[in-house]
Amino acid sequence: MGLKTIVDKVFGTCRRAAPCLFALFLVFACMAAVQRAQAADAGAGAVQPVRAVDYKMAGDAVKVRVVVDFDREPIPRWFLLRSPHRLVIDLPDTQMALDPKDLKAHGLVSGVRYGPVGEGMSRLVLAGKGPFKVDKIDVLKNREGAGYRLAVDISAASDREFDAALADQALTTASTVSTEKSARVGKGPLSTGHRFTVVLDPGHGGVDGGAEGPNGTVEKDVTLAFARELRDKLTATGKYDVFMTRDADVFLRLDERVRIARQHGADLFISVHADTISLKGIRGATVYTVSDKASDPEAQALADRENLSDQFAGMEIKDDSQEVTDILIDLIRRETHSFSMSFAHTLVGQLSTTVGLINNPHRSAGFRVLKAPDIPSVLVELGYLSNAKDEAQLADPSWRGKAAESITNAIALFASAKAAKTDTGG
Ligand code: ZN
Repeated sequence: MGLKTIVDKVFGTCRRAAPCLFALFLVFACMAAVQRAQAADAGAGAVQPVRAVDYKMAGDAVKVRVVVDFDREPIPRWFLLRSPHRLVIDLPDTQMALDPKDLKAHGLVSGVRYGPVGEGMSRLVLAGKGPFKVDKIDVLKNREGAGYRLAVDISAASDREFDAALADQALTTASTVSTEKSARVGKGPLSTGHRFTVVLDPGHGGVDGGAEGPNGTVEKDVTLAFARELRDKLTATGKYDVFMTRDADVFLRLDERVRIARQHGADLFISVHADTISLKGIRGATVYTVSDKASDPEAQALADRENLSDQFAGMEIKDDSQEVTDILIDLIRRETHSFSMSFAHTLVGQLSTTVGLINNPHRSAGFRVLKAPDIPSVLVELGYLSNAKDEAQLADPSWRGKAAESITNAIALFASAKAAKTDTGG
């Protein structure tokens, strides 16, 4: 082989290899660039902040869900603040690209604010209408499409529960997001200094007058007058803390009534009514508990009418998105329901000795105002304003005194039975 041949061979190979080598060089260069970018991302993080791109909130005065969408996974940290009750969520390396008009407060949330708090951190602050508890804070990967979402569930609670969560937070100073943390919220030494608490709910009020009797008696006035008498009787025993959802002629949404009951940490919730029925001959008191399926068509019709109360103030009942509605259909806890049933039973027994009851005086239907998941709740129809005799009775102080006495006795029996059950750990 001559020199030319060798030269040709070498250069020939090189000529063919040159494009391959160049391609290889490009691949390495690209890989290095990607690695540098990844290192920058993983490092300071200041290069590409996580962006919060969408904010949604739905619910009512009892429960609210907030969902914030992010382009990448956020790492939230949260804590509670008092006066007013607030939930603060800190989001490191996050930029809030939200539309301020989406942040309108709603239901249990009375205010929403956000802003930068230095070092690339953003802060989201939800102010509560009253005390609340954090049920859950989750970061979830979006099933469809890219990105992540932060889902925050809060529900109305008592000051005791809020304070217990604050105390718990002080013990675990590094309040990082975790379901364990959520599970601990609201569990504290709650029983200290708590007396059996009754929340009385005079039905209707303000623009919602409720039923009207043939002689002009208006339901909202009867319910308030009776609830005040009952409150005074209960308070006089010195055994209970008693609160009213309203103590004036004001309109209250149904969920607001439930929120107030939870705020006071009610052990028992009694909604007081005196409605009308198309059959004028029907009279007597009725005790209602909540159920998905109404006990009879009259109970169903009554619950439908009562549930329309919110529309009196011209408030539309919004169709919430499914994701949000799911949390609102709270199954009443089995234990709460059995307590409600047991109180209704006791109450019917006590009322039967003093005032007239209708046939089958314990009935049930889907009353919205009875839907606190953790508070035994009943709705008492004192009588029917559609019946002239019942209307006269409701205005009679001695009849009202007897009815209030019976309810007070029923509460005493219920409270002591519950205390005994708690003592024995049953
Ligand atoms: Zn009513």
